[in-house]
Amino acid sequence: MTSRRHPRGWLRHYAGLLMPDAASATRASFERDAGERLQRLSATVADRTWGGARNRPRMRALTAAPGARLRWREVAAPPPPGPLGAIVRPIAASTCDMDCPVMLGATPIALPLHLGHECVAEVLSVGEQVSTVRPSDRVIVPFQINCGECAPCRAGHTGSCMSVPPLSMYGFGVAAGHWGGAFSEQLAVPYADAMLVPLPDGIDPAAAASVADNVCDAYRHIGPHLPAVLADDPDAEILILGAVSRRSLFTPSCTLYTGLIARALGARQVYLADSRAGVRAHAERLGMDALHPNQLRRRAPFPLVADVSAASLGLALSCTAPDGICSSSGGLHRRARIPFVQMYIRNVTLHVGRTHVRALMPEVLDLMTRGALRPETVTTTIAPLEDAPAVLREHFLGGDSVKTVLTA
Ligand SMILES: [Zn+2]
Ligand SMILES: [Zn+2]
Repeated sequence: MTSRRHPRGWLRHYAGLLMPDAASATRASFERDAGERLQRLSATVADRTWGGARNRPRMRALTAAPGARLRWREVAAPPPPGPLGAIVRPIAASTCDMDCPVMLGATPIALPLHLGHECVAEVLSVGEQVSTVRPSDRVIVPFQINCGECAPCRAGHTGSCMSVPPLSMYGFGVAAGHWGGAFSEQLAVPYADAMLVPLPDGIDPAAAASVADNVCDAYRHIGPHLPAVLADDPDAEILILGAVSRRSLFTPSCTLYTGLIARALGARQVYLADSRAGVRAHAERLGMDALHPNQLRRRAPFPLVADVSAASLGLALSCTAPDGICSSSGGLHRRARIPFVQMYIRNVTLHVGRTHVRALMPEVLDLMTRGALRPETVTTTIAPLEDAPAVLREHFLGGDSVKTVLTA
């Protein structure tokens, strides 16, 4: 049993936004297309304060404010889609591991915001140039906005799309450009053909909701690297590093998905290290070998290490074998001590960054349709979307939740 978490209030949350780490995140999001980002912000403000959206139909969206306060709000529904766009209705929306620290007010992401960025949705309407999806289709909505046409999109770097400002995402409010949240009645998708992926037959929407982010985020730690590692040694041991403190603010769904994906792609020996006993028990049930991070000091280093919770990059790197690869979700708002000398001597490759979710979705869905990957084994709560405020508050503060999926 993990102890309950305590959210920061307004004052501590906003004081945190003034810290240097928060400022550098803000700088990164304004390094290109700052004008467009400010335009989206002012349009949102105009909708709310001057009734700019007075003539638009209303919908409900879940608003998250400091103090882990969640409530449904009546807001303007998105306007009709542009020629390339679509309007969708989320039918299964899930929590991302990042939502918990965001809700606790412990990240550089400013509250309040419209929460949620992982969902399967039903298409309500499409623009006249959209050809791959139609109204009533069920689709997975990637959390990153991408156009499919620019050079990064065509190269598969869909998280770096040049047609929208940097870090354009659902569910992160002003920090990500005000694209709305998945815990709502409607969501606007600006590039429907490029972004939306039809839900394969036979896959439950609740099982696929997290493919919109966390499952693909897990895949990028393993998919690009494991084949070469197993080609060198079919019995290679893989390490997934989750939390090193029992008080970690991140929920562990991505940690567990990473282990599932390593096994689905052929790793025979997958170790998952996490300081939380409940996470280790869950990992064992899913066929992994669970370790406490303290036990890693006594083990030989691993040729592939996935530092999923970005809890201790230094530990992840010191666990990486000579000529091995360490894939890290990055420090986000934390600082890391990097053992450069050891990395130099061992010839370690470190990869830090975000997922390119849209590009990876087909590979992940292929594993799911073949029955090799079952993300639903990670889910701990399924509840009606209607109950979102109470169910999610418990998810964020309760301390033992892994993944909550809300269905409509
Ligand atoms: Zn996320
Ligand atoms: Zn693009």
